Amino acid sequence: MAKLESTIDVQEIRKDFPILSQKVHGKNLIYFDNAATTQKPQSVIEAISNYYKTENANIHRGIHSLAEKATHDYEETRKSVKAFLNAKHAEEIIFTRGVTEAINLVANSYGRAFVNEGDEIVISTMEHHSNIVPWQMLCEQRNAKLKVIPINDKGEIIFEEYLKLLSPKVKLVSVVHVSNALGTINPVKEIIEAAHKFNIPVMLDGAQASSHFDIDVQALDCEFYAFSAHKLYGPTGIGALYGKKELLDKMPPYQGGGEMIKDVSFEKTTYNELPYKFEAGTPNIADTVALKAAFEYIEKIGKTNMAAHEDALLKYATEQLLTIDGLRIIGTAEHKVSIASFVIEGVHHQDLAIILDREGIAVRTGHHCTQPLMSRFGILGTTRASFAFYNTFEEIDVFIKALHKAVGMLR
Ligand code: PMP
Repeated sequence: MAKLESTIDVQEIRKDFPILSQKVHGKNLIYFDNAATTQKPQSVIEAISNYYKTENANIHRGIHSLAEKATHDYEETRKSVKAFLNAKHAEEIIFTRGVTEAINLVANSYGRAFVNEGDEIVISTMEHHSNIVPWQMLCEQRNAKLKVIPINDKGEIIFEEYLKLLSPKVKLVSVVHVSNALGTINPVKEIIEAAHKFNIPVMLDGAQASSHFDIDVQALDCEFYAFSAHKLYGPTGIGALYGKKELLDKMPPYQGGGEMIKDVSFEKTTYNELPYKFEAGTPNIADTVALKAAFEYIEKIGKTNMAAHEDALLKYATEQLLTIDGLRIIGTAEHKVSIASFVIEGVHHQDLAIILDREGIAVRTGHHCTQPLMSRFGILGTTRASFAFYNTFEEIDVFIKALHKAVGMLR
């Protein structure tokens, strides 16, 4: 296949990411671990350092100028998240450390309020451990049952099987929007519509989806949506949970402490309103402020342009990967993002990763925090190359050459 013409100037874009010009083991860094975390543009790095240089203060309670500035910027990011997800109200956006904390929040708070003995929670086979373990913990506490939607050999949800799991006993469906291990884009709109026929709320794990296409929580009509900034060219340690206001209002606080209260006495505490009810303690202010810079950067490049380049990289990489003897792609769904997961007969992924690293190539190997999914495919793990809009076709050529060499050494 020809290397498709790109709508973006990748060489220009790469200059925005200081880390990409690094050498690793004397070789140009080739960063193909974007599904684990993305690199950060200069504007995000500067936003973090500017915050500490010019406005660091604790938010919401202070009257002084710095506190007001910090509070203003923190709340401005909440408005950007509202716009990013197309939420109806800013108070439907709760800042969390990321997707993991968002799911734990819902499992603990929604779970405590709405899940009882004999109830069921539905997830899928391709969930990240973050969207399995909190539900298992909840089910154990409440004597509820975890039900799992099976997938086919391509790594797609078997929709008829999903429909069979739906019943009034199900109190929540929580599925991944895009699989981190396979790249599968799930038919979430249809999943939500089917669940709503039984009045079942739906949570979407948007860790991988949010960087690849526009998210519109009102159009999806999901009850909860979570993303992590670090997978979106933003800082680590910050992310958000979107929840429908009517539901969040009915849910008890997840953690107790400062900020989430209205009044405290030793006899009784009354809770703050949304979203503060769910934001106990001093939050991650600097990284929240810098998240806005990440949104602005994404907006500047344009998600459609980013996705078009990433799709072209995936097509090219897939075709090239299949030239390697004994290589099998794990995750061949019809609708995929730029994630190529594979196994090679007679080659252990860990050995492969070590050799690739010597060539300056960063890929992920192992179970990708999806052990039940690996078991479904009868494997222990894969090698995963995940591409971002700053990656190039030339990097894929170097990668494929290194793979051929590594396979020759390891077989
Ligand atoms: N779900 C998916 C699909 C992911 O890819 C990840 C990150 N690997 C998570 C959840 C957890 O995200 P975080 O570690 O940012 O909380």
